[in-house]
Amino acid sequence: EGSSELREIRFENVSFRYSEDAPDVLKNISFTLRKGDRIALVGTTGSGKSTIIRLLTKTYTGYRGSIQINGRELRDIPLAEIRNMMALMQQDIFMFNDSIRFNIALGREYLTEEDIQKAASFVYADHFINQLPGKMEYVIQDNGDNLSKGQGQLISFARAISGNNELIILDEATSAVDSLTENYIQKAIENIFSSRTVIAVAHRLSTIKHSDQILVLEQGRIIERGNHDEL
Ligand code: ATP
Ligand code: MG
Repeated sequence: EGSSELREIRFENVSFRYSEDAPDVLKNISFTLRKGDRIALVGTTGSGKSTIIRLLTKTYTGYRGSIQINGRELRDIPLAEIRNMMALMQQDIFMFNDSIRFNIALGREYLTEEDIQKAASFVYADHFINQLPGKMEYVIQDNGDNLSKGQGQLISFARAISGNNELIILDEATSAVDSLTENYIQKAIENIFSSRTVIAVAHRLSTIKHSDQILVLEQGRIIERGNHDEL
């Protein structure tokens, strides 16, 4: 449940612009991700990292070149299938004015209480949840205003990891968090990286270190690739 088999994702000479009269923000991007791979996207702001994620998740479809999942063109794959296969952890996550449990499970009725607890502890979110009044019942305010940025990130990790989706996509936040939460985030990333296929927009050295393929982007192009030791 909540998963669809993933063998390979292939970008072949992918170019993309946000509108007809705008310049290309991705230029001839090619890379292959196989089941179990951990890929990090790094590069300066505006270099196209999040745009690659937006294409992969079918947020935008007007790309040129080819994006194939298990040999099928992404354009021809129903969005529901993509959503089953991938879980996205974004910079700013949407929070509902409801309990922590609700914000992790998000209406996925196949998730048991144990799944939710396990996901929370797998990403080290249980450390702060257990200190809150009511724990899993604690009500998050609109926009997550009563959580720190880092705690919000951990909730988003738990949300993503709980569904058993084959591919985890992390668009890592640049914003600084307190050092205790930062420590948990790093450990959570380590756990996620050791258990799933991951593509991550990476700002933290710890994320980059745990990747086996690093793609360096600049102005929409891949200018370097290799692992942490090679670059
Ligand atoms: P950051 O590290 O700041 O998150 P990024 O590498 O993720 O940067 P993208 O968000 O992929 O960068 O943006 C790549 C380029 O596309 C930038 O020039 C940006 O201005 C442009 N862009 C991004 N989103 C849109 C949009 N919705 N409409 C038009 N242009 C956009
Ligand atoms: Mg971005």
